[in-house]
Amino acid sequence: MEKRLNNAPCGFLSITHEGLISEINRTLLDWIGYEQEELLHMHLEILLSTPNKMIFHSYFYPMINLEGQVEELFIHLKQKDGMSVPFLMNAKLYKEDLVERIDCILVKMKKRIDYEQELRSAKKLLEAAYQEKDRALANLEQIHVEIEHQQAKLLEMNAALVELSMTDKLTGLKNRRFFQEQLEKHFNHFHETAETFSLCILDIDHFKKVNDTYGHQVGDDVLVQLAQLLQIQVRLEDIVARYGGEEFIIILPETEIPAAKEIGEKIRHTVEQDGWPTGSLMISMGIATVTSEDTETTLIKKADKALYGSKEHGRNKVTHFHEIK
Ligand code: GH3
Ligand code: MG
Ligand code: MG
Repeated sequence: MEKRLNNAPCGFLSITHEGLISEINRTLLDWIGYEQEELLHMHLEILLSTPNKMIFHSYFYPMINLEGQVEELFIHLKQKDGMSVPFLMNAKLYKEDLVERIDCILVKMKKRIDYEQELRSAKKLLEAAYQEKDRALANLEQIHVEIEHQQAKLLEMNAALVELSMTDKLTGLKNRRFFQEQLEKHFNHFHETAETFSLCILDIDHFKKVNDTYGHQVGDDVLVQLAQLLQIQVRLEDIVARYGGEEFIIILPETEIPAAKEIGEKIRHTVEQDGWPTGSLMISMGIATVTSEDTETTLIKKADKALYGSKEHGRNKVTHFHEIK
């Protein structure tokens, strides 16, 4: 065999039609760990495992007989130590005169298979990492939903707390703090638009007697009933609040003196006519209508002064501040 073919960077093997090895180069001998004399004239099958023998019979020989060649056949050869080595093999039928040989070129596949194995492992790792990422994203999504839910709950609770801080516990009406805020808003609006509004303070007459005669619980019931009555009697835009004790306060937007007095009188009359656990109930009222000189304090003082006027003049009365000047 020519020296260069003997040492070529691929295996070379020539077999007779019966499968006997007639030539084998040094490279292939080194790869499978044999010496030439151990394999020459031996049957190729001593290098083949049973499945590989079947491949030779069912595919290799038929293709050689039919096409005269076989391309890229993947086979394993047994090394002398029994280890199986993967190869890619091309074979071609060679005919000259009466000689017929099957020349085979073999290329080692181990590195490539190892690479493929590595690639498969890397792909698996990558897939696992992607799955992990998807799981983490799903978790994150869940956490976001939970946070949004909690934030919404917090906002709801805050709103409820604000509402609570503005509400009078006993009567359920708005409280003095809410009233102060609203009065400030109405003053701002008045300064912007000059739209007049009125303020009405009302106080139960001789309420102390109610408590003394019927007890504190009945006193409370009266306060609750009066609160409900006021809420029903006022217009939608009016703001009723419990000012403290048995005093209530009403902001009457866009209301001049006559209309304010009319509303006050209507409320006083309704209270007088209503049925009470004490038999009857009367209230006194003081009204003031805003002027450009007024501040929040002076307007409340004026309404209070008017209320005092009602008390002075026998109670169960409605007095407007402009009447007592
Ligand atoms: P006037 O006609 O001059 O207003 O006499 P009055 O007895 O109503 O006035 P006064 O201010 O002397 O008494 C108010 C009473 O209201 C005293 C207090 O015990 C009572 N009071 C204040 N808040 C409450 C409450 O929440 N529940 C009950 N039951 N009584 C209350
Ligand atoms: Mg009072
Ligand atoms: Mg009173």
